[in-house]
Amino acid sequence: MTTAPPTNLLGLNRQRLETFFQELGEARFRAEQVLKWVHQHRVRDFESMTNLSKALRERLSSCAEVRLPEIVSEQVSADGTRKWLLRVDAHNCVETVFIPEEGRGTLCVSSQVGCALNCAFCATAKQGFSRDLTVAEIIAQVWIAKDVLEGARGKHRTITNVVMMGMGEPLLNFDAVVEAMDLMQEDCAYGLARRRITVSTAGVVPAIDQLRERCPVSLAVSLHAPNDELRSRLVPLNRKYPIAKLLAACRRYVEREPKHQVTIEYALLRGVNDSSALARELARLLRGLPAKINLIPVNPIAGEEFETPHQSVIDAFREILTAAGFVTITRKTRGADIDAACGQLAGRVQRRGRLPKKSPNSAGLQRADQAGHRIAAP
Ligand code: SAH
Repeated sequence: MTTAPPTNLLGLNRQRLETFFQELGEARFRAEQVLKWVHQHRVRDFESMTNLSKALRERLSSCAEVRLPEIVSEQVSADGTRKWLLRVDAHNCVETVFIPEEGRGTLCVSSQVGCALNCAFCATAKQGFSRDLTVAEIIAQVWIAKDVLEGARGKHRTITNVVMMGMGEPLLNFDAVVEAMDLMQEDCAYGLARRRITVSTAGVVPAIDQLRERCPVSLAVSLHAPNDELRSRLVPLNRKYPIAKLLAACRRYVEREPKHQVTIEYALLRGVNDSSALARELARLLRGLPAKINLIPVNPIAGEEFETPHQSVIDAFREILTAAGFVTITRKTRGADIDAACGQLAGRVQRRGRLPKKSPNSAGLQRADQAGHRIAAP
């Protein structure tokens, strides 16, 4: 006789938890009680869930669990940014980053182990793709960050915003990401307003439309170039979903909600996409789109030659966009001393043999190994 593995209640949104209790012959309101225990009080053993009957507690202990990834390491940057390396299974780890700012705290959450998109300048890409994270593994990042932060001293210790900008392409793990975002918004769990959650995508066009229907959170698009020729070199996904299609999807996304804006992310790479001519081309391209622009001076990653432009070049680029009427901010690099900045996340992954060991990209793999060494270090 085989017994079914325990259900991990951590990954069930309200609807799934209600179904779970209905199937046990229990009232639906149990879902609300358990959501609060698990996500608000962060209680993991059913025995302590004192408003459930003794019989139900015993039953849950035998068929369910609240299981979280293990914290392998926590690093705190000089600027207060924190990064956790979390082990999701014997071979795979992911990273989560908390960025405190005046009046807010942003948690940067991973959606996949590794990434399949292979953007030219991103550290995660160098690892190849290992697997999608489950709903439980995604929401666990919020659970753990909150748990650690509430125990920590000092101000800046609450999560006011979540950005799906960690490892992976969130829209290629659509169902799990959306159900995890249900829990982020759920009043009995984390209670974040929809607009305080941002999905960042390299441009999976059909999924942008699905997101608008299912869960219209804030949208950020990693554009990085104003024309297809250049963008296809930086973001290979552009060959499948070129700029015109991507921007049309952005327009559809914001159309229904007058106050909604798309965030356009543009990593500035010295000598590659940082000229004034390209800034003007970008301004023309985005004309009429309700958008704000985030310039991200590229964070260098091992094994790639990309460099950050001089400050004067960054300022000139920004000035052109501002003059064209776009709110444009230059994102401050945070947590670079602990490799927690944009594009630097590289939890250890199980390799799928996509990259030969001694390829020019092997530096990325070494970085993954270094993360592995941190696992072993005391
Ligand atoms: N796959 C999603 C989310 C992860 S990346 C996406 O592409 O949007 C989050 C952001 O960091 C993206 O805009 C990405 O292009 C950017 N990024 C990646 N590598 C970077 C680097 N080395 N320096 C600066 N930004 C980088």
